[in-house]
Amino acid sequence: MGAGEFLTGHFKSFYSKHTASVPAVGSREFGIGEFGKKISRRHISFASDSELNSFLHERSPLFISYSTAYYERPASSPMSSKGFLGADIVYEFDADDVKTECKQEHDSWSCPKCGAEGKGAIDACPTCGAHVKKDEWYCPSCLEETKKQTFRLINFLENDFSLGGEISVNFSGNAGYHIHLRGDAVRSLNKEARIELLDYLTAKDMDFSKLGFAESGKSGKMFLCPFEAETSGWGKRLLSSLIKLLEEGDVEKIAAFGAITNKKAKDLIENKKLVLKTIREKGILFSIAGRKNTQFWESVLSHLVNESALDVDRQTSADINKIIRVPETLHGGTGLLAKNVSIDALKEFKPLRDSVVFSDSRVKVFINKSPKFYLKGNEFGPFENEEVELPLYAAIYLVARRSADLAGV
Ligand SMILES: [Zn+2]
Ligand SMILES: [Zn+2]
Repeated sequence: MGAGEFLTGHFKSFYSKHTASVPAVGSREFGIGEFGKKISRRHISFASDSELNSFLHERSPLFISYSTAYYERPASSPMSSKGFLGADIVYEFDADDVKTECKQEHDSWSCPKCGAEGKGAIDACPTCGAHVKKDEWYCPSCLEETKKQTFRLINFLENDFSLGGEISVNFSGNAGYHIHLRGDAVRSLNKEARIELLDYLTAKDMDFSKLGFAESGKSGKMFLCPFEAETSGWGKRLLSSLIKLLEEGDVEKIAAFGAITNKKAKDLIENKKLVLKTIREKGILFSIAGRKNTQFWESVLSHLVNESALDVDRQTSADINKIIRVPETLHGGTGLLAKNVSIDALKEFKPLRDSVVFSDSRVKVFINKSPKFYLKGNEFGPFENEEVELPLYAAIYLVARRSADLAGV
């Protein structure tokens, strides 16, 4: 039995007991994929959720994605003939895009040109500069980082916008989270408005003075900040982060953020009460002795922006023709479920534990290479060129990743 057949068989038994549902299913374009290929066919449509679920049960594709867009004729091709009616917004946060120390442990690379290899996540070979072949893995710690980004986005959606509609979060089935925004207000946004939204979330070209953080007068001796009651959006977010930073009084952090000595940061914190009172009552940020106010406060503000701004792939977030994994279906590169998670449950959600759907029955696989990995609360490996008996869910994970083959075939 080949790897593809092995996976399809297990996916089929999963889909005999599990259903998925897509809002406005009849207006969506679907795409399916096979072993090693996420999208091999597009321009598929289903009249209802039950038609979709029969298809999942009968065909059990290894990947299934749907359009964020709504169309009059979703199965029609080319794209221009579909009759575009509007689109949801889906933001994706992938562990590929976050820099975490764990990648040094679980990721590795090899250079197809000169044969060099090593640990960690890099793009170009340090020896010859060629594009490297990456072997990327995800662990609880890098997935937790993508969850933080998800919470940042939810914070923006709940506090800065009034888009209404529905926010739906799901694990991607592999490297991170998808956040689907649906509803009439979202649906009608054009491409420019979607880019504007992205600029806001990523704090692109942020102008502090427009938010009320600005020098006063020609001499620039005073640096002003907005009053809490008179500000909103980023202005309010930065003001409250700034107040929190001062209240917490972490001298080293303030020194690093403002590029000043610990001694000067300590002096500032010793005057904390007065500094905070001046901010709240006068809208003025305290002067730092011997340091240009503007430089100091703008440096602090820039760091605070980085703590709150989102790191999203601009290209894919604004793409209105993209298709994305159907929530509550399996990811054919891991065998994990792209599980829906309510915002209330997100904090406690552990993707490598809660998205495992296959059993503990034992299967023998031949593992080419794998670092230590985590599933369902257990730790496996590292393995290299060895035959191992594993629980079915771990065997499916490795075979789907192409890190292992079924033993004895
Ligand atoms: Zn090389
Ligand atoms: Zn990791």
